[in-house]
Amino acid sequence: MISRNLPNFLLKPLMNFVLLVYLFFSKLFHVDFEPKEKLDDSYTKFNSFDDPLPVIEQLNYQEILAEAKENGQPIKPVNRRKPLTVEVEKCSECGAPKKYLYSFGHDPDGYQKLQCKVCDHQWAPEKPELRSSNRPTYRCPFCGYALSKEKERKHFTKYKCRNDDCSKWKNEHKRYRYRAYDFDVENLEVSRPDKEPVNLDHSQYGNFIISKAMDFYVGLGLSLRQTKRALKLAYNVSPSAQTIQNWTVSLAHRLGPNIKDLDLPLSGIVAVDETYIKIKGSWHYLFTAIDGKNGCIIAQHLSKHRDAKGAITILKRIIDQYQGRDFVLVSDMAPIYRTAVHAAKAFLKTDVDHRQVKGLFTDDDNSDEVYRPYKNIIERFFGTYKAHYKRHKSFSSFDGALAHLTLYQLYFNYIKPHSSFDNKAPLVVEDSRGQPINSWAQLIRWINKTDK
Ligand SMILES: [Zn+2]
Ligand SMILES: [Zn+2]
Repeated sequence: MISRNLPNFLLKPLMNFVLLVYLFFSKLFHVDFEPKEKLDDSYTKFNSFDDPLPVIEQLNYQEILAEAKENGQPIKPVNRRKPLTVEVEKCSECGAPKKYLYSFGHDPDGYQKLQCKVCDHQWAPEKPELRSSNRPTYRCPFCGYALSKEKERKHFTKYKCRNDDCSKWKNEHKRYRYRAYDFDVENLEVSRPDKEPVNLDHSQYGNFIISKAMDFYVGLGLSLRQTKRALKLAYNVSPSAQTIQNWTVSLAHRLGPNIKDLDLPLSGIVAVDETYIKIKGSWHYLFTAIDGKNGCIIAQHLSKHRDAKGAITILKRIIDQYQGRDFVLVSDMAPIYRTAVHAAKAFLKTDVDHRQVKGLFTDDDNSDEVYRPYKNIIERFFGTYKAHYKRHKSFSSFDGALAHLTLYQLYFNYIKPHSSFDNKAPLVVEDSRGQPINSWAQLIRWINKTDK
């Protein structure tokens, strides 16, 4: 049909073109099918980086009770004849215990309402959208107005100052905005195996076999089954695949806490990105931070979601590692990293010099060209890691995946020969005789020594 409408000499170039486009895209996306989960696009409106945090007012029933007592009008618990008809522990506003709450009719949807005798707050505890935690009142640092809720998102609530007399609004024609996270930014930690399924010291196989298993599984990238076979062929021992998995998790659990204390040369440039891996058939996200110059892995974080919380978690780890020194953060355009930089400024008092590199199809931006190579470093790393773990196809458990990643990070930094580093590891560490270490047995010994 096409040939009838198109002259023949045009058909061939057209088909060639279609083929080229197909090849180009298949090359681009050859690694894996991308998971469907789209990035949350709600990270758009930011308050200015220079805005102070809001004034946080948390009602506290103990303070109110003490004040009332001081004023000669103490608040007594409710003299209850019938028990409350709803399950509730405390006032959602001031935290006053149950004995200060009484029933107060029903709301328009028919939910039983309660009133707190301490702070007069009324609410319907069984109403679905209500959160049980007691939320503080946030006040605008410019005008003192209570901020009103703008939007609720998975990990945070957006607030906005709606006061038309607010000095920020009057001077800058921008509303003061604040996002309250439902997690503590200061306490975020990258994922780490928290189980020790077996005691490695009491294994009937001994340290030699265990470290050989790690050389096969983590170093050579064999699957658990292949590792089992390799151990049988090389050393005539037959631990089960599950046993090898348990060794991995236990070893990662032991070594994981030491990673942050190990020697890590930091060049001042950090590339950060995330890729996806499959665990028990569902997609998970691996956030990774790599030193832009020497290529070593600074931090990894495995998360079920590709969200701002994950980005903030890995950024916090980088900030901790840098201990107050400056660094440049290079990422793609994903808004989660802007959110993370913003959270670092607001909650960790850290200014991060953030450079975002655009996608493959834009050019002509100068800063792009300067920082793109660092972005490529991390993409190469993901390529290496994916090729490495391809034999596994899908990890069978979160702990197993996490353990493999943790050990791979150590292997990658301290053992793996890199062609770009003269076939040495990014960080050459030496044993007691001054020889560079190149096996798991030596690495474990070295880490345990560093520990002391
Ligand atoms: Zn109350
Ligand atoms: Zn205001």
